[in-house]
Amino acid sequence: MNTPKIERDNKKGNAHMATNKDLAELIFPDIKETVKDLEKRYPERDLPDGAEVTRFAPSPTGFLHTGSLFTALMAYKFAKQTNGVYFFRLEDTDQKREVKGTGMDLVNQLANFGIVADEGYFGDHDEGNYGPYEQSKRADIYKIVIKELLKKGRAYPCFCTKEELDELRLVQEANKVIPGYYGEYAKCRHYSLDEAIALIKAGKPYVIRFKSRGNHLNHVRVHDEIRGDMDLSQNDQDIVILKSDGLPTYHFAHLVDDHFMRTTLITRGEEWISSLPIHIELFETMGWKAPKYAHLPVIMVNDKETGNRRKLSKRKDKEAATSFFIQEGYPKKGIIEYLFTIANSNFEAWLMENPKGNLDDFHLSFDKFSLDGALFDLPKLSNISKEVLANMDKTTFASECLAWAKTFSSESAKLIEKDPSYFESIINIEREQEKPRKDYEKFSDVFPKIRFFYPDCFDETLQNPFPFNPHLDTALIKEVLQDFSDTLDLSVDEETWFANMKALGTRHNFADDRKVYKKDPQAYNGWYADSIAIVRTGISGSTNTPKLYDTLKILGADEIRRRINEVIHRL
Ligand code: GLU
Repeated sequence: MNTPKIERDNKKGNAHMATNKDLAELIFPDIKETVKDLEKRYPERDLPDGAEVTRFAPSPTGFLHTGSLFTALMAYKFAKQTNGVYFFRLEDTDQKREVKGTGMDLVNQLANFGIVADEGYFGDHDEGNYGPYEQSKRADIYKIVIKELLKKGRAYPCFCTKEELDELRLVQEANKVIPGYYGEYAKCRHYSLDEAIALIKAGKPYVIRFKSRGNHLNHVRVHDEIRGDMDLSQNDQDIVILKSDGLPTYHFAHLVDDHFMRTTLITRGEEWISSLPIHIELFETMGWKAPKYAHLPVIMVNDKETGNRRKLSKRKDKEAATSFFIQEGYPKKGIIEYLFTIANSNFEAWLMENPKGNLDDFHLSFDKFSLDGALFDLPKLSNISKEVLANMDKTTFASECLAWAKTFSSESAKLIEKDPSYFESIINIEREQEKPRKDYEKFSDVFPKIRFFYPDCFDETLQNPFPFNPHLDTALIKEVLQDFSDTLDLSVDEETWFANMKALGTRHNFADDRKVYKKDPQAYNGWYADSIAIVRTGISGSTNTPKLYDTLKILGADEIRRRINEVIHRL
């Protein structure tokens, strides 16, 4: 590798020659503040021992990926469980990828899951003393730090055009060497300060690059909170730190922002592990203490077609967008609990012991993280959601269901609002008991199952054939229904009612014992479960309803008789 010329040129005594300071002043004449000023403006935070400062730092791409929700949740949880600070920073320096105005959507979508920042970007305003929290508004802060690097001879302007860089890549491919801008391949690194200054004065466009001192043949020991120590190749790339649009790249913005926002723990996707040597070198160059890093496993799925594991994909998987869960009406707590099962292997056991427990009481730890990628498993989410919905009290269930319906099913919202206590009594069937029934996985399951309770909805279904057992004569079905209607008594307790239902079956030659029927099927029309099924179908238009006794009580004798009458006339 060539000796860096610029540093050599900068030796004291060469009074006639340009200095690093000259270059820095030429590039940033208006930047008067220094890194010291920034240290004062953003002082160390006064927090208790062990408190972590974490952040979620998304790019505004118009979409909250399930993997990003996971990342945000981890940052939030680590801050909360240590009495630290969790903040939101909008990483909007890649203006090509940015979908304008979507930063606010991200904030709102996270709030949907209960993840609200202690400070940071809130869409229409910032909160906190470490802002601005939108990178596009921090240009001057980055420039202050870059000016310092220029003065130290650790940054330089690069005038290479896109064509030159493309050509460099081809040469490197042909020579089978590591691609990139480094060492002897870093053309502009070797300009003298005078040359660089002359090119700038001539109006040549440029970006600013970091001047690395690493060598990829050497190793650097890095630490990841989840993986432990790792030996990676040192960075030797002269990465771009300031683009021609005046905004920094991710690497540099991360250095500056996480230092001056006083982040102590970075939780980010594992795709950033390979960049860690760059970040470590940047922190070392500035003489700053690097934060702790935890690279989170990427969320994977089993591909339905190939059977192979792959990343959860925005293009292929509906569950890659958190909006899918919101639209379907999954309970937020279910999703959060599910994401905790992905994070920590001991969470599920904790949840079994604490089904109604407060998630704040679970302590998330790095040594319980799985390392081989986290598998997203919709059936498992379904089970957890069912459990959450079953354990909700009826009032919470009703109000969350209404909130969902207002946005996604106006017809259902109208039905709930017309008579909230009727709705509550329906969804309360077999709820507030030791082992509540797991009827619903998500709020969009509720209405298809309970529509029949509403007389108008039931009447609409009368036009369709009812799913009575096709092996039974219509005449018999009519007789059973008529007899049921004539003898209906809902004032009795459940046990008596059940005995009455059995007796109804017996009157129409349904055996009162399954075994008896099975022994001699020719002698009977069926057994009593078959006669109860006739009643269930008759009053609901469906073979599957919540517990029949409760259903009948909620419908009431008049409505039941009206329905039976309608059904008999149509049979
Ligand atoms: N904006 C980066 C991303 O979306 C943030 C990574 C980080 O958290 O540092 O991947």
